[in-house]
Amino acid sequence: MDDQRREIAGGGMFIRDGFIEQVGLSNELPDSADKVLDLDGHIILPGLINTHHHFYQTLTRAVPAAQNANLFNWLKTLYPIWARMTPEDIYLSTQTALAELALSGCTTASDHLYLFPNGSKLDDEIAAAGVIGLRIQASRGSMSLGDSKGGLPPDSVVDDEDAILADSVRLIERYHDARPGAMVQIVLAPCSPFSVTGELMKQSAALARQYGVHLHTHLAETKDEEQFTIEKFGYRPVAYMESVDWIGPDVWFAHSVHISREEVETFAHSGCGVAHCPSSNMRLASGIAPVWEYLRAGVKLGLGVDGSASNDSSHLLAEARQAMLLARLWAGLEGASLSTQDAPPLLTARQALEMATRGGADVLGRSDIGSLAAGKCADFFAINLNRLDYAGALHDPLAAIVFCAPQRVDFNVVHGRLIVENGQLLSVDLPHLVEKHNQAARRLVNGSGR
Ligand SMILES: [Zn+2]
Repeated sequence: MDDQRREIAGGGMFIRDGFIEQVGLSNELPDSADKVLDLDGHIILPGLINTHHHFYQTLTRAVPAAQNANLFNWLKTLYPIWARMTPEDIYLSTQTALAELALSGCTTASDHLYLFPNGSKLDDEIAAAGVIGLRIQASRGSMSLGDSKGGLPPDSVVDDEDAILADSVRLIERYHDARPGAMVQIVLAPCSPFSVTGELMKQSAALARQYGVHLHTHLAETKDEEQFTIEKFGYRPVAYMESVDWIGPDVWFAHSVHISREEVETFAHSGCGVAHCPSSNMRLASGIAPVWEYLRAGVKLGLGVDGSASNDSSHLLAEARQAMLLARLWAGLEGASLSTQDAPPLLTARQALEMATRGGADVLGRSDIGSLAAGKCADFFAINLNRLDYAGALHDPLAAIVFCAPQRVDFNVVHGRLIVENGQLLSVDLPHLVEKHNQAARRLVNGSGR
C-alpha cells in the first residue's frame, strides 16, 4: 500500500521507536536488531483502519427485539437498554471491541460514543483502549434533540448542549495529540441530524476548527433519515450539512448511502470523507452506498464495521470482504441493463484492502498511517498462509485473505509494540473479559438496572 503499491516477496521492515525506517527485501535490511520477528510463510499488511464503530454496542449484539428491524425501530428498541449503561460497561465493551478488532488486523479504530448514561464518560473508553494498545480516534458524540422536541431518542438519553460543548473542550485539552504517531485523538461527533439541533452542529464545527480536530456524524444512512432531513429542515442531507458548516476536508460521514450524484461531487470537491459500512447497511436493510461513484469521483473512502448491534461483529478483514462482495452485487444489478463497456467494473480484493488501509487513513486525516513505508508508523498485521482456509489459493496470497473466509491474524503490531503474538492477545485475559462482558450484557438486556 505504499505509493507504488509494491508487493514484495521475501520482504521485511526495519523499525525504530515506533516508526518504519526501511522497507525492502529482508536481505537488504540491517543484519541485527534488538528484536527480530521472523514471519517467514506469513503475509504482512499495513494495519487496517476502522473508520466507524460504537464499541458499547458489543453489549447488545443480536438482541431479539432488535434483530429484524430497520434503523429507526432498531434504535427505539435499543435506546432504553443503552440508557442503563455504567462507566464499567463502557470500559468492558471498549476492550471487547478492540480485542476483536486487533485479532482481525485492525491497528487504528475510530469510535463514536454518543450517550453517557449514569456518569459514563469518554475517559472510560480512552482508559480501556490504553490497556489494549490500539490507536484510537475517540469521538465525543452527543444527542440533544429528544422526542419532546421532535427528535428520535427519548428525552432520558439526551444531554444539555452547553454541557456537551464544555465536555468537548475538556476532552480535547486533556487527550488530543496532533503529533505523528499519536495514540489518541479526539473527534467531535454529534450523533445524527435526527438527534441533535442545527445549533449544536454549528457550535461543534466552530469548536473543532478552533482546536484543529476532526468532525464526524452519521449521514443519509436510510430513506427515513433522508425524509426526516427534508421535512424537518427543508434540505437534502448534504445541503443541510452545508447549512451548518459541516462540509470540508476535516469532516467524515458514516454510511452516506442515499447520496445523489451532485452530493458525491460535493464530497469530492470539498474533501469530505465517507465511512462505508456494508454489513450494517445490509443488516438494517438501509441500502447500498454508491461506492463506485465515490471511487470514480475521488471521494476519500474508508471502511467501518459500525456498531456491533448492527453487524454484529468487529471483524475488519471480514468487512473488507463484505465491501468487495456487495460492490460486485451492485455492479451486477446496475450493469444488467447496460452494455458490457458501460457496466461498472467489479471491485477487486486490492481495492477493498486499499479502502481498509490508505482509504481509512485519508478519511481520518492521518498521514502517518495506512501504508508500509519509511516514516510511517510501525502498524502492521501478519497472517500465516499455511492453513486449511487458504489451501489452493496461494497463487495470490493478497487476494486469498479477502476472497477466502476471513481469518484471525497471527500477529498484530501497533507503533512497534506486539498486541497479538501467535494468535494470542497479549494485554488482557480474554476468557475473563468475555465472562464479565456477558454478565454486563445480561444485566443490560434483562433490565435489572445498575
Ligand atoms: Zn453508526
